[in-house]
Amino acid sequence: MTDAHSPDSPRVSHVTFEVETTVPTSHGTFRMRAYTDVETGADHIAIVASGPDGAAPSDGALVRVHSECLTGEAFGSLKCECGPQLDAALDTIRDHGGVVVYLRGHEGRGIGLINKLRAYRLQEDGLDTLDANLALGLPADSRQYGAAADMLRDLGVTSVRLLSNNPEKRRQLVQHGIEVLESVPLVVGVGAFNEGYLDTKRDRMGHELPGQLHGDV
Ligand SMILES: [Zn+2]
Repeated sequence: MTDAHSPDSPRVSHVTFEVETTVPTSHGTFRMRAYTDVETGADHIAIVASGPDGAAPSDGALVRVHSECLTGEAFGSLKCECGPQLDAALDTIRDHGGVVVYLRGHEGRGIGLINKLRAYRLQEDGLDTLDANLALGLPADSRQYGAAADMLRDLGVTSVRLLSNNPEKRRQLVQHGIEVLESVPLVVGVGAFNEGYLDTKRDRMGHELPGQLHGDV
């Protein structure tokens, strides 16, 4: 018997492929491939667009790995930039081809919807996004990206041009065997309600964002 975690045993995917279907959206028509996360049970979706030449995404594809954010995406919350980032990523893959890997269970950088709202409540008292999580006894960021790497691998994409400002996301994809050829910055949705949040992401969490976001974006 071999230990499932021994380096010699075949690697076990973080996801199981479930179904693929085509869905027209306000951004364009995409293939949507659904996966189950074998560790968390979450449903993840790969949103896939062919390039202008009609070819399916392959190595070197533009890829956005996007974390679920109900408040930002469904309700248009201005506390973060997730909604505009998702919109911009879908428009980008529609125009150039590529993949948006949409990861569920990532709400509030992994702390869940209720705890995210608890952190927002603490921010009303002046804590920043990082200190609010720490005050709740929660990690600043507990998101894992092994599922995203396996979804890309399932699509035949093992190297990417990553639509992201987040070096931790890039580091984890590389750790899980996806080569990151380039990071393509995605700076959208900056406004009066989230500029402090973006400052914290840049100054305290290592995100690659311009120094002067305010007023000129
Ligand atoms: Zn968000």
